[in-house]
Amino acid sequence: MSIIINNIKSQISEDAENVIRKALKKADIRKSDTLKTGIYKTSLDARKRTDIHFVHSVYADLGDAEREKKLCASDASLQYIDSEVKKPVIKSGNYKGRIAVTGFGPAGLFCALVLSENGYRPIVFERGETVDDRARSVERFWNGGPLNISSNVQFGEGGAGTFSDGKLTTRIKDPFCRYVLESFVKFGAPEEILFRAKPHIGTDKLKSIIKRMREQIMENGGEVHFNTTVTGFETDGSRICRVKTDKGDHDAAAVVMAVGNSARDTFEMLFSNSILMQTKPFSVGVRIEHLQESVNESLYGEFKDNPFLPVGEYQLSYRDNEGRGVYTFCMCPGGMVVPSASEENTVVTNGMSEFLRNGKNANAAVAVSVSEKDFGSSPLDGMYFARELERRAFELAGRDYKAPATTVGGFMSGKPSLESAIAPTFARGLAECDFNRLFNEKINSMLKAGLMDFGRKMRCFRDESAIMTAPETRTSSPLRILRNEELVSPVLDNLYPCGEGAGYAGGITSAAVDGIKTAYKLMERFSPE
Ligand SMILES: Cc1cc2nc3c(=O)[nH]c(=O)nc-3n(C[C@H](O)[C@H](O)[C@H](O)COP(=O)(O)OP(=O)(O)OC[C@H]3O[C@@H](n4cnc5c(N)ncnc54)[C@H](O)[C@@H]3O)c2cc1C
Repeated sequence: MSIIINNIKSQISEDAENVIRKALKKADIRKSDTLKTGIYKTSLDARKRTDIHFVHSVYADLGDAEREKKLCASDASLQYIDSEVKKPVIKSGNYKGRIAVTGFGPAGLFCALVLSENGYRPIVFERGETVDDRARSVERFWNGGPLNISSNVQFGEGGAGTFSDGKLTTRIKDPFCRYVLESFVKFGAPEEILFRAKPHIGTDKLKSIIKRMREQIMENGGEVHFNTTVTGFETDGSRICRVKTDKGDHDAAAVVMAVGNSARDTFEMLFSNSILMQTKPFSVGVRIEHLQESVNESLYGEFKDNPFLPVGEYQLSYRDNEGRGVYTFCMCPGGMVVPSASEENTVVTNGMSEFLRNGKNANAAVAVSVSEKDFGSSPLDGMYFARELERRAFELAGRDYKAPATTVGGFMSGKPSLESAIAPTFARGLAECDFNRLFNEKINSMLKAGLMDFGRKMRCFRDESAIMTAPETRTSSPLRILRNEELVSPVLDNLYPCGEGAGYAGGITSAAVDGIKTAYKLMERFSPE
């Protein structure tokens, strides 16, 4: 329980102690009356180049909830927060079989962690490898070796975001978000993620954190089966009684499906078992690469080298008069564009950064929204639309996992080129490509409109030598697996569609939160063994 004192402005070099002092003074609270104080959130305001500053929220724990509530009631600039996560209600009664969790990305991982912390012994099936073995498979592919279709940037311990910037920003406002951040810190993430407005972990730190979380689940009595793909179920009509995997079958009292947005074979299996699902709008496009210094310059002007300012990042969007959007997404400051395919003979791009974000280039997806109008209304149509783009990209770029690419100038003029002072980071290499052969006219015209609009907002987007690498297709799930208020499929009474692949999350934090919510629903219904 704490009071939050909002809107405390500071100069970019001002230290935290000073900020806290200013906040307490503003709220008329004596330091000696507090048990604990600290920065709650910090964001950078760089809208005016002549007045770049930080804006903070500061928390003060007075150790007396009643007094805190009273203070907040008398001062509208103060906010009372109850940071305690609600305790799960645990069912007691008969229980047969264990809870099976399919997929060990953020959704499955947090679901299994919370279950295991509350006396349950979940059994996790993950088609990919442990994070260390997975890193070796990914490295091999990036260095020109074969693609491991079960263990890659999309699949394996930690899920899709393991090779990422580890951004933990989310648009959802849920008390479990704080629990997710605190759990990451408990398992080794830097404390700053608790107060940064745009927290990120970086792929380098994320890998060891995930490993420690798995070890904790196992210490608590859970099991994690790697290299094990769930391939089907046995049902008694309305409920699953056994889970089928490629390594054998297991009894299960309930099954969580947290398979992410790339599990195309699993979506087909669920569809053929008449599990209710529908298409969902998602986005496709390119990764754009600029020099990080030109992003910093666009944002900070003459302060671009100021060591107190964070590495520059941006988020831009544009909507045409028909309502179709194009937006930048998953920006990776100081990062790399990464080969992210999970199926043979396809090309997929995405981005990642290390914690320090100290690479030479910045990259972000520039993605155009697509919907039923573009690909059809059958539940798997969006997925096939994305796959078709990935296959075409593979063909166009010479069938060896290079990615089709061009400079912005080449794209805008219709004369593709890769002549640029920016050294591209895509490890498998690029092949010059006319995007008119890859994307349809609507997507290309939206990409052009977006780039023009972003160029008006940020100078680096006017750089004709910026590099566009394609295609970005795994932005979010192309479908939604239906579930009711108890988070259960209306078709099978103990099947829990969960996380991003099921259409209920769009990023690491929101997927983790959905995993926790699913665990809570399971605990209300099933008792521990
Ligand atoms: C390169 C990259 C960078 C990203 N960067 C960020 C970022 O910085 N911030 C952010 O918020 N989001 C980022 N994302 C998106 C983020 O990773 C996802 O939103 C998130 O991981 C979704 O979590 P999930 O648990 O729902 O699914 P996933 O993370 O996709 O996990 C699903 C898991 O299920 C396994 N699986 C699939 N089918 C089966 C089966 N049949 N049997 C057993 N196991 C199965 C898969 O192997 C996978 O490990 C990034 C994604 C990628 C690919």
